[in-house]
Amino acid sequence: MTDRYAVIGHPIGHSKSPLIHAMFARASGQDMAYTAIEAPLDGFADTVHAFRASGGRGVNVTLPFKLQACEMATEPTARARLAGAANCLKFEEGGRTLADNFDGVGLVNDIQRNLACPIAGKRVLLLGAGGATRGALQPIAAERPALLAVANRTPEKAHQLRHDFAAHAPLQTGGYETLLGQSFDVVINATSTGLSQDRLPLPEGLFAPGALAYEMVYGKGLTPFLKQAQAAGVARVADGVGMLVEQAAEAFLWWRGMRPDTGPALTTLTVPLV
Ligand code: NAP
Repeated sequence: MTDRYAVIGHPIGHSKSPLIHAMFARASGQDMAYTAIEAPLDGFADTVHAFRASGGRGVNVTLPFKLQACEMATEPTARARLAGAANCLKFEEGGRTLADNFDGVGLVNDIQRNLACPIAGKRVLLLGAGGATRGALQPIAAERPALLAVANRTPEKAHQLRHDFAAHAPLQTGGYETLLGQSFDVVINATSTGLSQDRLPLPEGLFAPGALAYEMVYGKGLTPFLKQAQAAGVARVADGVGMLVEQAAEAFLWWRGMRPDTGPALTTLTVPLV
């Protein structure tokens, strides 16, 4: 029988996950179907229960339900608990609901494998202190950067992360003004400015020679952050399409027990950065 999976969000029409998982399933010969489901804003749990009752084996979860997904799980992983959010659920016998968060490991795999940029020993900066940064911190810290810093418009939210992650990574946190005089080898834009087209107040000299500028938003071409990076002389720029594909690969591995080749999905979904 065909195993059924889905991505649940609101809105969901834009989701590339059905395409990515269909490519993975076809290439690996897995008998599975993967659909997109839009849950009402006040109906996430009901939507999950209904999908499960109809034979669903697991779901990906996207905005704005990642926090609720973690809360409703009977067994969230340590990294999902630390992030306070889950982007993947797996349904097991006996009503067990497992939850994990693959966004951070997807980001790390994209940076290290696809972009050939090892994190160990590097100075890494995350811009933004929302859910995406929360999910990325522990996987990045596990790669042993020389420094891991978080800058946010609302500095208190960055400081809160330093407190919450104290047992996992010594974080440098603050507002954008605290970045003055510092430079970083990997700068990741985890704010939502890639969608709003706002410019971030990045100080001169922020990008070290040979730095990678990584925009988590994908499919938008050169966002203001990537344009700022290029104007500062950065040659290595990337958007978050690889993060999306790599987190999907982690979910596929978790559900199906096999790692798919991410190359074809990456090629299909990559939009030139111009
Ligand atoms: P979020 O929880 O809403 O956090 C948004 C962050 O952006 C906050 O730190 C906020 O700062 C900051 N921000 C918003 N507008 C700003 C502005 N004009 N100037 C400076 N900072 C601003 O969002 P999220 O879940 O972390 O997601 C962040 C981005 O990552 C989204 O665009 C999302 O699409 C992308 N993302 C991509 C993937 C992928 O697979 N590629 C996965 C997850 C997320 P304040 O705290 O000061 O409000």
